[in-house]
Amino acid sequence: MGLFDKIAGAFEKKQCDICGGEIGMLGNKKLENGNCCKECVKKLSPWFTDRKHSTVEEIREQIEYREQNREALKDFHETVSFGEDSSLFLIDQQNRRFVVLPRSNVDIYQVNPDIIEFDQVREMKLDMSYSSVEEKIMRDGQRVSYNPPRYEHTFNFYVKIVTDHPYAHEHRCPLHARSLKVHTAGPKMNRSYRLDALEDLTRFLDYYPPINYRDRVQVDRELDDCYYFAHMGDEICRTIMRG
Ligand SMILES: [Zn+2]
Repeated sequence: MGLFDKIAGAFEKKQCDICGGEIGMLGNKKLENGNCCKECVKKLSPWFTDRKHSTVEEIREQIEYREQNREALKDFHETVSFGEDSSLFLIDQQNRRFVVLPRSNVDIYQVNPDIIEFDQVREMKLDMSYSSVEEKIMRDGQRVSYNPPRYEHTFNFYVKIVTDHPYAHEHRCPLHARSLKVHTAGPKMNRSYRLDALEDLTRFLDYYPPINYRDRVQVDRELDDCYYFAHMGDEICRTIMRG
């Protein structure tokens, strides 16, 4: 097939193999053996990532299951919840199951989060990303180091979940909306292994505390935020893995 045919093919109107509706221009979502429209894709599990390798039959089954899940949400009652401005975990400890909403201010029936049984969880752990950059200042038209040098450390905390659920296999749930920053002044902290970065930074600050009071207060608050979300992640994992 020539390039022209490929382009023409992309603009050709197709039919959705799931709902039978017409697929608009460039709105086609490929399946392994057919086509799917955007509206039908929206009905799939929020954590589902394997659409292109799913057959028309598998997608039909999933959409049927999704409607049952939406019904079952009416009987879902959390006994405890975790989450601030990002992922919201609703956990029903009595019936040993949970759901995760992407944010707290969404309609649960619209998002239709998959109900996951505790026993379906294979792996669940606090996950984190860490990076640091030196902050510089403009002096005589050049970016130069502060004296002593300043660094900005960036943390993001997640709960990583791997399950046996047929459609919600794996997800990394962010625990806060904005990256957390910690600011230090002094030598460069030695490169840290990701998961130890927060402890390393705390030890580092024992050696090189901020010089003035206001910076000390700010850094304490920044570290507190990091520990708050790290502990929240641990608590979520404990509640589900030991529940
Ligand atoms: Zn459709």
